[in-house]
Amino acid sequence: MTALASPDAVVQGSEIISWPGYVLGLDIGGTKIAAGVVAPDGRVRSFALEPTKVEEGSERGVERLFQLGRRAVAESGIEWTRIAAVGIGAGGPLDPARGVLIAPPHLPGWCDVPLVARAEEAFGLPVILENDATAAAAGEHRYGAGAGTSHMIYLTISTGVGGGFVSDGRLYRGANGNGGELGHVTVDCAGRVCRGCGRKGCLEAYVSGTSIAERAGEAGMGVVTAADVVAAAQAGDPLATEVWDATTDALACGVTSLVNLFEPQLVVLGGGVVSGTGEQLLGPVRERVRAEAMRTAGEMAQIVQSALGRHVGVVGAAAIAAERIASSNVLSDG
Ligand SMILES: [Zn+2]
Repeated sequence: MTALASPDAVVQGSEIISWPGYVLGLDIGGTKIAAGVVAPDGRVRSFALEPTKVEEGSERGVERLFQLGRRAVAESGIEWTRIAAVGIGAGGPLDPARGVLIAPPHLPGWCDVPLVARAEEAFGLPVILENDATAAAAGEHRYGAGAGTSHMIYLTISTGVGGGFVSDGRLYRGANGNGGELGHVTVDCAGRVCRGCGRKGCLEAYVSGTSIAERAGEAGMGVVTAADVVAAAQAGDPLATEVWDATTDALACGVTSLVNLFEPQLVVLGGGVVSGTGEQLLGPVRERVRAEAMRTAGEMAQIVQSALGRHVGVVGAAAIAAERIASSNVLSDG
């Protein structure tokens, strides 16, 4: 089995490194797991999706994830011998160097899961583990809305809020691979408790699908989902409109801080809440960020929707696996 370079050793310029072959991408979300076979040009050859069923525990969850991966390979028509690696994206905190899920808040009970070792055993291939939002940022940057940019922010807004940051064409990871938690920038230091990290007033505590539904319940809409709130706001319901406006305000506040901090060329928004709303979300956010961000940064930053949509997680995990293998081959050849 190929020894993989450590994350620190990976060369990740904006140039697309030639892939060693097809890669199986796996993505573990709080609500859904996904698997797909990704070609060297970033195209998805097969895609399979299932509910995560977090309550069944990590043992069963990991088995179901690997089954889904096998199904994706079978449906792709690509021979196993042409699959060069497996890339896995999952919510942090995790240890990419050891390949262990530590304690993701959106996967309660999935603590200290040695995911890479389990996957290497199951597939007999090199495996990498990466933070799901960091992987998604890589996917959008290499093959999606961010292609051609050198400074890009990606935010995924779904069960929780994750983020990734590309600077000078390179993914930002932090010292141990858990940096770039952009969903936990503070938009109100005395605000709502964040389910993801326990602090008060994180962006996630206002704009995640979970939070939109919770705030709607508190406002008197009863037990509803984020999608119900969006539909009711579209229909002009005053309570839903209030909840929705607070959502776009909080997102604009968080994105404005990120734009001021990083001066990106592009902010890509993805995840279930964004795909279900499009311009209903993007329009007000774009307008407010442009008005409130520092002038040069605010004028530069384009705010767009994810181009890879629901495929972003598997494409990103596969891209990171391919790049790491390509760079470790370069290192061992040299
Ligand atoms: Zn938080």
